[in-house]
Amino acid sequence: MKCDICGKKIEKTFLNKIVGSYMRNSKHKKKVVCPECQKKYGKEELLTKL
Ligand SMILES: [Zn+2]
Repeated sequence: MKCDICGKKIEKTFLNKIVGSYMRNSKHKKKVVCPECQKKYGKEELLTKL
């Protein structure tokens, strides 16, 4: 699985949770965002990029 913003690989924890978070874009598609991109961009900005 890769970050939909920067393309970096997203790891999973031992509980099979992703290190990052799921977001839905304006077309209601499920997207994945890594923690770096979440810090780098605000929520509104992320949504315009997804
Ligand atoms: Zn990213």
